[in-house]
Amino acid sequence: MLKGILQYAHTLLDKSVNKGETVIDATCGNGHDTLFLSKLVGEEGHVLAFDIQQQAITNTKKRLEQNKRTNVSLIHDSHAHIEKYIQLEKHGPIGGAIFNLGYLPRSDKTVITKGDTTVQAMKAILKVLKKDGLIVAVIYHGHEGGEEEKNEVLQFTSALDQKEYKVIKYGFINQKNNPPFIVAIQKLK
Ligand code: SAH
Repeated sequence: MLKGILQYAHTLLDKSVNKGETVIDATCGNGHDTLFLSKLVGEEGHVLAFDIQQQAITNTKKRLEQNKRTNVSLIHDSHAHIEKYIQLEKHGPIGGAIFNLGYLPRSDKTVITKGDTTVQAMKAILKVLKKDGLIVAVIYHGHEGGEEEKNEVLQFTSALDQKEYKVIKYGFINQKNNPPFIVAIQKLK
């Protein structure tokens, strides 16, 4: 049946990422996606997980330790600087990436992802993404600042050349209170 947003985000990555690849969690938050990706790529694979908040890095580190995962690099920096951390010779083409936009649940609601840096990170990832790889963005937009970011991300992704990328939007249109939705980009060449 119709999958929930987070479930569908994982299904998309599950179908496109291979074991042994390097993948990116652009916003590790509480580490749910980081843990999922860590298992998905297996022991031979690697996850680069970013967050600007120490609290998120700490929470993710704890979750990974509890699950005995050792194939993750936690990077306490903005995903705007992603280029600095990806070496194609070392990581190979990137297998896929996820963004979970908005603020860290149960934390400071003023620290939010922002359209300009999110788009900057997406552009950097598209350059190093493998053919047929996906960037999956879960867009939360009900909070203050969320609407602006949503618009910037939609503007950027809708303008991507259809000969080079497939872009989809997936979301429930009968849910109340600005439900999150997915934008996923597949790199065709
Ligand atoms: N809204 C989601 C969770 C989003 S968490 C939910 O409800 O489940 C978003 C994370 O992105 C936060 O931990 C925040 O610190 C982080 N973040 C914000 N700006 C960032 C940036 N420029 N680079 C990396 N992480 C960032």
